[in-house]
Amino acid sequence: MVLDAPGRPLRLADLPDPEPRPGQVLLDVHACGVCRTDLHLLDGEVDVPDPPVVPGHQIVGRVVAGDGFEPGTRVGVPWLGWTDGTCRFCRGGRENLCPQARFTGRDIDGGFAERAVADARFCFALPEGLDDLHVAPLLCAGLIGYRALRMAGDAERVGLYGFGASAHLLCQVAVWQGRRVFAFTRPGDAEGQAFARSLGAEWAGGSDEPPPEPLDAALIFAPAGPLVTTALRALERGGVVVCAGIHMSDIPSFPYEDLWLEREIRSVANLTRRDGEELLALAPRVPLRTTVTPYPLEWANEALDDLRHGRFEGAAVLRIR
Ligand SMILES: [Zn+2]
Ligand SMILES: [Zn+2]
Repeated sequence: MVLDAPGRPLRLADLPDPEPRPGQVLLDVHACGVCRTDLHLLDGEVDVPDPPVVPGHQIVGRVVAGDGFEPGTRVGVPWLGWTDGTCRFCRGGRENLCPQARFTGRDIDGGFAERAVADARFCFALPEGLDDLHVAPLLCAGLIGYRALRMAGDAERVGLYGFGASAHLLCQVAVWQGRRVFAFTRPGDAEGQAFARSLGAEWAGGSDEPPPEPLDAALIFAPAGPLVTTALRALERGGVVVCAGIHMSDIPSFPYEDLWLEREIRSVANLTRRDGEELLALAPRVPLRTTVTPYPLEWANEALDDLRHGRFEGAAVLRIR
């Protein structure tokens, strides 16, 4: 499925098999998660520098050939597809901020396809215990969410704003870590709130409701800027609002008083390989359970549309073979 230009649906196309270059693996793609970032690419809210491109950055595949892995190995390919390894961010443990970084499904053809190539150094070995469909959402929803949770520090009371693919995984991790989770859904989404409670949230309500007690951290997964000021008002002194998405509508102005007392607002960008290794090691210990809605590859547009309108719980995943 090919993205030709923003604003147009993805196009089903028959492309030649990609050829792995030195250091790359050729993969048979088994599954690929659908992410809100894919919607931002489709809508032109995140730039695609050199279309056409095959989207998809939560790839689960088996190695067919190439360097770095034995043929047959199951690997995962995340959003971070390549970095220069030499800039001050890469050398300082923040490869997620590499100005030269190339991203899977934006700068590099991704996993909405039967075959893909990937730089072996950026592929993850995947834990057993989760099948291809159920492990796919860990590769972005899970691990960028995990990075966001890490930015919450030792926060005990964690609010999750937007209870989709990321939050349904992070809720489980946070509860397992001994934190208390407060889940915020679209107002009136009783099903989503019940889903959050079933995953360990001690309270769930609409994003227009205040939590029953102040939050030490608020993680925002929905792309709505007004949630930033809402979450800020829900914070305990010294708390932090972490924005986990790549794009958000404008944030309204707010009185300084809401930020006073060392409250913080920050974003989380991309991932490092360390984030992925940590989350994938933790997944079987929690153990993380993913809720997925599968779609055939050629239904990628329908999956994106359902994501846009919040028509499923958990994560959408393309089942490819
Ligand atoms: Zn770099
Ligand atoms: Zn993503």
